Amino acid sequence: MVESLFAGRSPRAWYRLVRYTIISLVYNVQVDSNYIVDTLLNPVIFPLDNLTASLGPYLVALVVVLLSSVILISYVLGIEWYLRKELHKTLALAFVIGHYLQVCVWTHFYKGVVTDPGHPTVSDPTNADVCKRCVFPKPPRTHHCSVCKRCVLRMDHHCPWLNNCVGLNTHRHFYLFSFFTLLGCIFIAIFGLPVFFEFLFVSRDEKYFASVPKTYLGKWVVSEAYGRIVWYTFSMVLSIGLCVFGVFCWHTSLIVANETCVENKQNSYERKRFSKLNMRYRNPYDRGVLKNLSEVLLHDDQKSLWWILVPFHLSPDSWLARMAHKIFGRAAKTGKIV
Ligand SMILES: [Zn+2]
Ligand SMILES: [Zn+2]
Repeated sequence: MVESLFAGRSPRAWYRLVRYTIISLVYNVQVDSNYIVDTLLNPVIFPLDNLTASLGPYLVALVVVLLSSVILISYVLGIEWYLRKELHKTLALAFVIGHYLQVCVWTHFYKGVVTDPGHPTVSDPTNADVCKRCVFPKPPRTHHCSVCKRCVLRMDHHCPWLNNCVGLNTHRHFYLFSFFTLLGCIFIAIFGLPVFFEFLFVSRDEKYFASVPKTYLGKWVVSEAYGRIVWYTFSMVLSIGLCVFGVFCWHTSLIVANETCVENKQNSYERKRFSKLNMRYRNPYDRGVLKNLSEVLLHDDQKSLWWILVPFHLSPDSWLARMAHKIFGRAAKTGKIV
């Protein structure tokens, strides 16, 4: 039987016969090249994902420690210097701006850590596909997070520093956390510049030490650890600022184009494919810069983009929203998230 099947066939025909036989036996409509590559990389990725998941809480704690240390040192160095130079109005201005930025940074960081990024539900009418990992229906733009081991709506990436997925409900907090942290670094750099210049260019001799009042804060300035504290703050502000600047620029480019990190790879492949055909690829989710920004940062709330400067979360049934409804009417009606 087998002999008659292969009798008189060329090696090429043999190859085709064996290939199609294997394909017909193992064919699955859900399997594609990405799935095969994912499966082959699983032995490497699986331990890395588990490591990321287990390190998550420690990385969140590290962010809190690093940011808190820079902020606390900035208080000590800044207050002492501006009081010594009797620049009371500048100090008051720095207090207002600095505290506003701090509230924004910590609010978005906290919300980024604790907010559920959004997961598909079986009754969602927009379900259009099935996740191969969790075998669960999912709407478009949903991807499986191998660290959280769940499908995430409008999945962007898993952020180890927030120990959370950046998805539908968390992208705005992740983005605004990087935005306000960048502003915070610029703020410390501007207001800390005279302090740093004095440290660099004024010699720490007897005359200088005599000019520093012997207050509690002044003791810090004349201590031997002062140089190390200044350099620590300078290097932390510079490195944190550069990192969040990169993240902020990258995510601004994604948000204005209404792309996620995952879609950016797919869309750049499509752009190249279309350009070879002398055609222009258009991202189907692109609704224009302002609407794209509003979709991610205000969840399409029909509000002005200035609302992103308001750091707190306002759910429609919260007491604050009800009070705002009484006072402003429309603001509370549309105030799902501000
Ligand atoms: Zn999944
Ligand atoms: Zn995740």
